[in-house]
Amino acid sequence: MTYRTLRGALLCAALSALPSIWAAAGEADVLETDTHRFTEVRNDIWLAQGTAPVFNSNSLVIVNDDDVVVVDSHVTPSKARDLIAAIKVLTPKPITALINSHHHWDHAHGNQEFDGIPIIGHEFTYTRLATAPLDEPTYVNGLKGNDDILRRVKEGIASTTDPKRKQELETYLELFTAHVGDFDEIDPVPPTITLSERMTLYRGMREIQIIFLGRAHTGGDVVVYFPEDRLVFTGDVAFAGPSYLGDGFVDEWPQTLDNLKALDFDVFVPGHGFPVTDLRRIDLVQEFYRDLWAKAAAMHARGIDAQTAARTIDLTNHTEIPVSEVGASQLSIDRIYHRLDHPD
Ligand SMILES: [Zn+2]
Repeated sequence: MTYRTLRGALLCAALSALPSIWAAAGEADVLETDTHRFTEVRNDIWLAQGTAPVFNSNSLVIVNDDDVVVVDSHVTPSKARDLIAAIKVLTPKPITALINSHHHWDHAHGNQEFDGIPIIGHEFTYTRLATAPLDEPTYVNGLKGNDDILRRVKEGIASTTDPKRKQELETYLELFTAHVGDFDEIDPVPPTITLSERMTLYRGMREIQIIFLGRAHTGGDVVVYFPEDRLVFTGDVAFAGPSYLGDGFVDEWPQTLDNLKALDFDVFVPGHGFPVTDLRRIDLVQEFYRDLWAKAAAMHARGIDAQTAARTIDLTNHTEIPVSEVGASQLSIDRIYHRLDHPD
């Protein structure tokens, strides 16, 4: 999930309203369906983004000579069904495998709709999706985020005097209430095939490498690498800025990003947002994580509590990072303190 947990849906709404800079630059083909925007990143490898203004994650749709491989299954079974239907508009070829980039709910809770085909993920992803996944804090926080959005939309309806705005909010409330209802049918399904280091799929002329580069956003992130196309899908390991750190290994993450940079690619597709060609962004995020870890660890060593640390750590030296969006959030500092107290 992104670092903007609580603002997810509203942010997503804002993003959905924007044309893709990537597509607008004339570098890509775009196909719109009722539910999705497909953007061809390279050679029949498509970024699939839901267009409903609710929080969701990217999927990658890899159209091969004879079949389709999908990376990440969206936020709910309902959204996964939309994705599968939309892929049928893109191609008549059958989906033969699903890859999970990691276990987070917004990427993997559509898994149950991919019944009957292999689901591939890291061993850690298996464990997290097989062991009380609906109790895990990141999912519970996601549900709280939904409640928070519902409450704020209702407050907005009650307080606005503008009839047009009221109507817009009521329409959104209806849509978002239905989305929240979709969570009731979630019955998490773990991967059926696991890997610990790497696996390669050969599909027609295509080589699809699934690689664990080290711990980062979770303990079991895999990236999906296309050496011929010099493209990598990074899930939530790499964005143009910092990611959600609540399950992260901030101390190990910069090294994992070094391992990513050792691959030969010139574009990466993150688990949220648009493809990134400015690879310097990875360096900036590495510097940010190193600095955040060092500053938090220094406060921890001095016995300063996590609340004070979150309030006082200054990261404004990272002028190209949207620190105001993530900064030293309480959640990030709590996670770093937990890592310091429980190194493993
Ligand atoms: Zn995630």
